[in-house]
Amino acid sequence: MNNIEKIVRRNILELQPYSSARDEFSDRNGIFLDANENPFGELNRYPDPYQKELKQKLAEMRGVDTKNIFVGNGSDEVIDLAFRIFCNPGIDKALTFTPTYGIYEVSAAINNVEIVNVPLNKAFQIDLEKTKPYLNDKRVKLIFICSPNNPTGNLMNKKEIEFILNNANGIVIIDEAYIDFSNETSTIALINQYKNLIVSQTMSKAWGLAAARIGIAYANEQIISLYNKVKSPYNVSELNQKQALKTLNNYDLYSSNLRTILDEKEQLKMALQQINVVKKVYPSDANFLLIEVDNSNEIYSTLVNQKIITRNRNKQVPNCIRISVGTPDENRALITALKELR
Ligand SMILES: *Cc1c(COP(=O)(O)O)cnc(C)c1O
Repeated sequence: MNNIEKIVRRNILELQPYSSARDEFSDRNGIFLDANENPFGELNRYPDPYQKELKQKLAEMRGVDTKNIFVGNGSDEVIDLAFRIFCNPGIDKALTFTPTYGIYEVSAAINNVEIVNVPLNKAFQIDLEKTKPYLNDKRVKLIFICSPNNPTGNLMNKKEIEFILNNANGIVIIDEAYIDFSNETSTIALINQYKNLIVSQTMSKAWGLAAARIGIAYANEQIISLYNKVKSPYNVSELNQKQALKTLNNYDLYSSNLRTILDEKEQLKMALQQINVVKKVYPSDANFLLIEVDNSNEIYSTLVNQKIITRNRNKQVPNCIRISVGTPDENRALITALKELR
């Protein structure tokens, strides 16, 4: 793996970042006449641009240094900034393993970056033979590995991940949005070993905080400083920082909800396997199940008519529907509706 500087866009390497009022004086106590804020009100002050308290908590939980953490406005920001830091528009490329999360491709398109889609094999695992030709392509600056993968639900094998980390010319982003639902350990443990690794996590799924838009990137210090240079100064609002911290501090609620979701997933899986129109329920390390049915378009619409909304993934995986695990009542309603189909 090359020095990171060789793969960063030149303008970003040379960028003089904006220095905010809160950068220059970060002590909480004082008479603040520096940022043209209104002295009255509850949310009148700009939030901490580096989310120190939140990062401190995340650092303790994940066993890393706060310098290895970037907090973004959802994973969307973590992904978009990766394009802006590393990919020269119209020149560089990004690689994904399909079928996968649609945001990578859209973010690439927004940034005018060509996307290379390498199909996963029949078991939805990475096909190294198809991948190898792209690993030392200097133009391939980003490689997205979603594990557990959306919409297929499976974890990617460690063997292929490590091969890619060892041989890629560019940055490898492992999207672990669903890792807390699985028994596998996070690849965060590898960030100091692989200078080209970014591990992306989120509070939107297992932590139940989709509305607060908290995405987290774990990487070595050099990559995190690039993120800090490019992000907008106050990218995570005060309300969201506070709520994220409060949620992380209520570990009991988190783990009891997690257990319920995982139990419900097993129940839902068994119930789905008994249903006539369901041909297959794919194994899942996440909080959703991918099912293959006779005619996904028809089943999807029938469910929508009963106000049961699932995700029709027919275009990504033929005749497949992705179902999020809901509350016990919601899951029962789904099963009842599916049983009535013939
Ligand atoms: C849901 C999801 C996310 C979360 O995105 P946020 O912007 O943090 O809400 C990230 N990656 C994948 C693969 C997802 O399915």
